[in-house]
Amino acid sequence: MKKILVLEDEANIRSFVVINLRRSGFEPIEAENGMMALEKLKVNPDICLALLDVMLPDIDGFEVCRRIRATGSKMGIIMLTAKDQEIDKVTGLMTGADDYVTKPFSPAELTARVDALIRRLGIDDEKASNEIVSGPFLLNTRNRTLEKGGQRLKLTQIEYLLMRLFMENPGKAMSREDILAAVWGSDFTGELKTVDVNIRRLRIKIEADPTEPEFLTTVWGYGYKWGY
Ligand code: CA
Repeated sequence: MKKILVLEDEANIRSFVVINLRRSGFEPIEAENGMMALEKLKVNPDICLALLDVMLPDIDGFEVCRRIRATGSKMGIIMLTAKDQEIDKVTGLMTGADDYVTKPFSPAELTARVDALIRRLGIDDEKASNEIVSGPFLLNTRNRTLEKGGQRLKLTQIEYLLMRLFMENPGKAMSREDILAAVWGSDFTGELKTVDVNIRRLRIKIEADPTEPEFLTTVWGYGYKWGY
């Protein structure tokens, strides 16, 4: 999970930001003053983006920004400025901030800016690890989709979990018991036949000839294997 520093002295704004970042899948690191923010940055070198309020009880947000940049850090920095502090925007961008958001802002606006900056800075390193490629297949584990040769295949949730299990274990023979436990959960009490039924359906979707499977092959008397 990407860590985002939230520097804001007003507790209610800070918790509003924190809740919304968490909801969007980020890990917020909170600081209520400038010195605390610098301290948190030292302890969490993997923070990839900072939201810096300008007006703070100790050193202001611009100073924090300047000090972050002075360390050579390329992390994303978004300043949180008050409504009519036009001058702040200019100062902020001059001290090395990447963007600014004017208070009051909506959760949607904030996360849109954060996402945009992460994309722009190319720190969206999770993209690659969200994708499993095997032969003509591309499985995206973030939006749970499967493509074959660039064509989207519609899968049920069970079929998706089966594909994921197989594509994560290429060449490995898996027993029907293992498959049942991995996909349906170890407390599932259904029959092993459930596995066969779902594999048959999945083959119809992914194989050119489901009776002569090329990818999802049978291991006789045992189970199945991603044979590609
Ligand atoms: Ca403030």
